[in-house]
Amino acid sequence: MSLHWTGQPFVDAGLAALLAASGASRLSDVTATHLDIAVRELERILLSDQALGIGLEKSFAKGTLSQVFPNSELVNPSNWSKGPEGVRAKYRTALKEDLARAKEALHAERGDRLCGICGELRPSAGFVMLRRDRFPLLSGAVNFYPGFLSGVALCGLCALALRFSVASLLRVGERGRLWFLHCPSDIVAARIAQEYGWGHFRRLIAANQPLDFYGDWRTSGNSGAILCLLCQLLRKFANQLRTIYQHGIPTVAYVFSNDNRGGYVEGIPVPTSILDFLQSLYLESVDAFDQFERELLRVDTGRDKREEAQRARFVATIADRIVRAEPIVGASLVEQRLLGGWIAHRTYLREVNGMNEAVLALLERTGIALAQHERGKKLIGRLERAPARDVRAVLLDLVREGVLSGRELAALLPPNEPTSAQIVRDVLLAVVYEYQRCNEVGESFPRLVGGWAIPEPDEVVRRLERIAADLIRTLPNRRQWIADLMTARKTAQIRATYLRALRSGAMSLVDFLFLVPLGDVTQAWVLRDYLLAFLFELGREAVPTDIELVEGEEGATDEVSVLAE
Ligand SMILES: [Zn+2]
Repeated sequence: MSLHWTGQPFVDAGLAALLAASGASRLSDVTATHLDIAVRELERILLSDQALGIGLEKSFAKGTLSQVFPNSELVNPSNWSKGPEGVRAKYRTALKEDLARAKEALHAERGDRLCGICGELRPSAGFVMLRRDRFPLLSGAVNFYPGFLSGVALCGLCALALRFSVASLLRVGERGRLWFLHCPSDIVAARIAQEYGWGHFRRLIAANQPLDFYGDWRTSGNSGAILCLLCQLLRKFANQLRTIYQHGIPTVAYVFSNDNRGGYVEGIPVPTSILDFLQSLYLESVDAFDQFERELLRVDTGRDKREEAQRARFVATIADRIVRAEPIVGASLVEQRLLGGWIAHRTYLREVNGMNEAVLALLERTGIALAQHERGKKLIGRLERAPARDVRAVLLDLVREGVLSGRELAALLPPNEPTSAQIVRDVLLAVVYEYQRCNEVGESFPRLVGGWAIPEPDEVVRRLERIAADLIRTLPNRRQWIADLMTARKTAQIRATYLRALRSGAMSLVDFLFLVPLGDVTQAWVLRDYLLAFLFELGREAVPTDIELVEGEEGATDEVSVLAE
């Protein structure tokens, strides 16, 4: 019976490293001969002077490695009492036994006992009982006093695989935590073990350095390390990495610490959309990909301590947001600069935040128009200071200035989606800053190519457009009327203004009731703003340019009752 992924993270991490060391290309191809090759490599690495710390300051075996296997043959003091050769002999013997049991397990025809890890019938002679000292995090976080608890019976193959997991582990660099990417894909998982496990160990041995897990990410936080690994993998094995999400393989990063003073384990699922995003960005522009990683995920050393700590906090925050698939553009605006590059942010907004391509193109166009506008400085300043609830008012001013149409405003900020205000503001500022930077350094702004039609407006927006057109056509003294609507401070004033239009026959009763629905004050203010947008667009000559638009306090809350006025 062949080898396959089990779903148990530590056993799978071991299988990945075993596969990488065996020379086989797929788990299902692994034979007894492959097991021999892999075991020889494990033995060579773990029994090297550099692993045991012979003639070196640090012992990997007694130090970091013992965090994973607290009571292995390499740690046990009684083994060390006979010196390094005693330890080596003990380890070789134990490994030889494990190898024999694993080979036994390969004989499917003799299978008579179910392995709880791989789910296969294996010959009972090959089973072994592993307790917490040999099976990381087997029973909760803390992994000591193995004698107090019974262990779990594993088939010989699963037990042998577990020994290999060391070559799949990576270091986060904070609080001594380790992690690995659990990704049951032959290619990706084996590549990680090959590059950051075996390859890294071999390089250290060649340089006579004490062994340690790979952890040189120059980043901050668990999420930072995960993302930097994904970036590096993409650079090296773009095609292979694509298999992860083409086949919908769930990928989870396990961050853990297993020392006996207190264990810790956290599973961090990597959303497929993040892989899509990184892949799309890499395909679109390697430069943009590099810039994204450098400006948002890397922490350079050599700055002064305070600056470095500040940068580390920034990177950790951004990386956490990315791993949770949350918007990052706002957090990337630092001192009127966009960090990470516009191409990356645009790709992120599309792939991770699900923003429509046409809306993105519109935001790009609007941001550039804003940066080029003669009153741009003032408008940008307002946008920078605007809390989310005032963003609509600022955009409404852009309609008044002719930068946006009413339908475009409705596409950017749909009347029924008040939560989009914050991200629209952030994206506009991102485009403005990037456009300004491009101008300063003489680069061309990387605009989206293609003509994008904004989505068709919904019924509410079309109705407001129609009401505005009616008003422009039939309203007497419309300049004053529009000014009154712009400066209304209370819902009652909005209603009074509409009543005047109703009296003069420019508005129907049905439209009046639509615009100020009973019992819904917030809605009245929202609808007023979109109505104004269409009035600005359709009756440009009647629009007062010198009047500040007022956003009534009542518009901000829906708790104010109409009856209470
Ligand atoms: Zn098994």
